[in-house]
Amino acid sequence: MATTFDAIVIGTGQAGPSLAARLAQAGMKVAVIERKLFGGTCVNTGCIPTKTMVASAYAAHLARRAAEFGVVLKHPPEMAGGSGVSVDMKRVKARKDGISGQSRTGVESWLKSLPNCTVYRGSARFESAHEVSAGPERLAAERVFINVGGRAIIPAMPGLAEVPYLTNSSMMDVDFLPPHLVVVGGSYIGLEFAQMFRRFGSEVTVVTSGSRLIGREDEDISAAVHAIMEGEGIRVRLNARCIGLSRHGGGIGASLECTGGPPEVAGSHLLLAVGRRPNTDDLGLENAGVTQDKQGYIVVDDQLRTNVPGIWALGDCNGKGGFTHTSYNDFEIVAANLLDADRRRVSDRIPAYALYIDPPLGRAGMTEAQVRQDALQSGRAALMATMPMTRVGRAVEKGETQGFMKILVDAETKLILGAAILGMSGDEVIHCILDVMYAKAPYTVIERAMHIHPTVSELVPTLLGDLKPLVPSNSSAAKPLVQPNH
Ligand SMILES: Cc1cc2nc3c(=O)[nH]c(=O)nc-3n(C[C@H](O)[C@H](O)[C@H](O)COP(=O)(O)OP(=O)(O)OC[C@H]3O[C@@H](n4cnc5c(N)ncnc54)[C@H](O)[C@@H]3O)c2cc1C
Repeated sequence: MATTFDAIVIGTGQAGPSLAARLAQAGMKVAVIERKLFGGTCVNTGCIPTKTMVASAYAAHLARRAAEFGVVLKHPPEMAGGSGVSVDMKRVKARKDGISGQSRTGVESWLKSLPNCTVYRGSARFESAHEVSAGPERLAAERVFINVGGRAIIPAMPGLAEVPYLTNSSMMDVDFLPPHLVVVGGSYIGLEFAQMFRRFGSEVTVVTSGSRLIGREDEDISAAVHAIMEGEGIRVRLNARCIGLSRHGGGIGASLECTGGPPEVAGSHLLLAVGRRPNTDDLGLENAGVTQDKQGYIVVDDQLRTNVPGIWALGDCNGKGGFTHTSYNDFEIVAANLLDADRRRVSDRIPAYALYIDPPLGRAGMTEAQVRQDALQSGRAALMATMPMTRVGRAVEKGETQGFMKILVDAETKLILGAAILGMSGDEVIHCILDVMYAKAPYTVIERAMHIHPTVSELVPTLLGDLKPLVPSNSSAAKPLVQPNH
């Protein structure tokens, strides 16, 4: 006999808990089911712990540069290979565990304290469209909200079964310095780990099948990120047509063509960061009749409804986002439609995200390549401006002048189409552009705004003053501002 609720929320990622709270507050009897760690990926194995570790890595990096700022460290110079700085990985991990743990227990105790809300531990599985099991429990509800997130893809690479490997989850247990970390994957997650471990003191090699790093970004952004990585001593191996793995000495070897012979890259530890897949394979979706795409993502409409009435999918498992803020935005969209008669839509949102290497990349809207493509197809005239961070006074003062800013606008409407800020505080500065995009205001609003000195943001109006026609072409092969050192 199933226990009946008004709503069942499966998973406590970035959408589920807030939605459970809103539903319970609205007087519904709510069940929340979590099978592992409260708070999900972001809190336990994603954003929060990685950004905590990025902060430790930044401190080590700055300490190594101390003399540039006139600061004298009193460590013996022979420490840590002569840099005078060594990193205590146990303390890095303890700091990370503390911050992540506080967040996790915060989510758990909050959910358990909510009136009208019952928390179940166990792996949820649909028995039918409106019945869900969680261990020995059987629950039923008219509304079911799926927020099960995703996990690292373990690719079918030759030799992978023979070697030990790490993922973003098992990296969280690393409390030692890998002598040589080989990162397979040249995208957002791989690059964040690559730079942080380089700064902790590891040798790092990034191996990717792509012809450039972060292939979704414009070529000049990729090139600048490549230069930043190599500038810190990270080796990058592009165009690996077939990555084969083997045991090599006490560690691992990677061949880049799978043609036999000695490995081309040898390291002590291997991190797989080649993408994510949704946690939908053991959810019993077939029992509910919920449609998935070929990769297992749950198919949803603009209001995040699945094909089955009364079942919604939010967060990474619907393939519409892949970020904490998109998952939280999913919660807002569902709550607005369900409880506030506010017809919010997924299609209302503007793509926005950051890459948390140092300096970070803040992104909003279209890339230059997309704008060029659009210009070719629609004939829409666009303008573009770029500015190297060496022109930003605040960056010069802080000794952090790597990167550049880029902005694209519609020549006719003056609306901002997209922007990339690769540079100091790029993850924050991008918001002054993003908000004007949401306001659907012309770029001249920012151009005329008085920004505070000295900031990176104060140069955004100056950047906009430099807009030039974007000549349509077949590729985004605009001359990179920074060339990689191949
Ligand atoms: C290394 C890394 C760094 C990242 N950094 C950033 C960043 O800086 N910024 C950003 O915006 N995003 C970042 N992300 C992405 C971000 O973590 C996710 O997009 C975010 O967590 C949204 O996830 P979600 O709400 O879909 O679910 P998740 O957070 O993945 O949570 C899903 C929950 O559901 C539970 N669950 C799964 N199946 C079941 C089941 N059958 N029964 C019961 N419970 C179940 C899981 O245990 C989990 O707790 C990062 C990801 C990684 C891996």
